[in-house]
Amino acid sequence: MKKITILIVEDEQLVADDLRETLEYLGYIVPTMVATGEEAIVIVESLQPDLVLMDIRLAGEMDGVEASEQIQSRFNIPVVYLTANADRATLERVKATQPFGYILKPFDERILSTTIEIAVSRHQAEFEVQKALSTAQTDKHVAQSQSQQKSQYLYMAAHEFRNPLTTIRLGAEILKHYGDRLPEDKKQSQLSRIQSATEDLMYLLEDILTLGQAETGKIHYEPVSMDVVSFCREQVEALQMTVGEEYSIKFLVNSEQRNAYLDEKLLWHLLNNLLSNAIKYSPQGGEVLFTLYWEDNNVCFKVQDRGIGIPVEAQAEVFEPFQRAGNVGQIPGTGLGLAIVKQCVDMHEGSISFESVVDRGTTFVVKLPVKE
Ligand code: ATP
Ligand code: MG
Repeated sequence: MKKITILIVEDEQLVADDLRETLEYLGYIVPTMVATGEEAIVIVESLQPDLVLMDIRLAGEMDGVEASEQIQSRFNIPVVYLTANADRATLERVKATQPFGYILKPFDERILSTTIEIAVSRHQAEFEVQKALSTAQTDKHVAQSQSQQKSQYLYMAAHEFRNPLTTIRLGAEILKHYGDRLPEDKKQSQLSRIQSATEDLMYLLEDILTLGQAETGKIHYEPVSMDVVSFCREQVEALQMTVGEEYSIKFLVNSEQRNAYLDEKLLWHLLNNLLSNAIKYSPQGGEVLFTLYWEDNNVCFKVQDRGIGIPVEAQAEVFEPFQRAGNVGQIPGTGLGLAIVKQCVDMHEGSISFESVVDRGTTFVVKLPVKE
């Protein structure tokens, strides 16, 4: 067991020497002795002893009670008084400092040793209780803020459902009440609106489920050895078919390597969100550059666009669910895509970063460890 170190604060040299000898004989370490309260405070700060044995009447300006007050409050180190008879008033002051012990001079060796042991173990116990309390306090705060965040997400999700549901309800009502009087083209356009709102709802639901499953650990990370080049090329070709002609996704491979150990489903979600953002946030059309390369045992995916960019003030939040930048205007979206991307990156123990300038464009880089 670690030996207990004790600082002696005593202005009578003979008493101090006697005390030191006894303490060392009892197995304690006495690194030094001081004669004033002022010195005691300085030494306690630098040596951090386990305990201070404090005389009350001292050589300097400060007496032992005042020094103890400071030592216990500033450094949380227990103090035991060792003193000749004290008057009533002093005793009251001593009590107020809640000392860990009080021994009368001339001291008895056994009382000295028991008082020290009890003081140190009481102080240790109090410290443990404090530590447990503060951990419990932190846990409580974390849980509270997590649950607050969850209800906020729930609220935001419900809010996102409102618009498409309203479109569907109104469309259905119009068709029900006026359907027979509406010209055919108006009927068709109501039906199309209902259809597209239903699709929006389905995508939204799917994103929320994906995110929820990732957060609760229900999506499993199942990496397989895969040909990343072919996988990306196929995904780019499929996406290119769904976007208009005003967009082109250019795919570049900057490496001889082809294989990595990745989860195909997660990778698909990841790339799909990054690429469709690049397209969606380039409302004027144009080219999206998608580069695949290997670097330091990572397979890296870089997606560059020349779109609207992300304003600096929104950059810290883009990976949070339901967060959208202020410059998105009428561009549709719910703010879930990048939160899903981040989950997919985390499950691969990879990293994601981006650079963006408003009205110039955005570049996202994802690096996933190859692990083979
Ligand atoms: P969702 O992907 O759920 O349909 P979303 O595209 O709004 O909706 P995220 O993909 O999570 O959501 O993106 C969050 C926000 O980050 C976007 O709303 C947009 O403000 C900004 N953002 C993301 N990618 C780009 C990009 N390539 N260019 C400009 N802004 C972007
Ligand atoms: Mg998106």
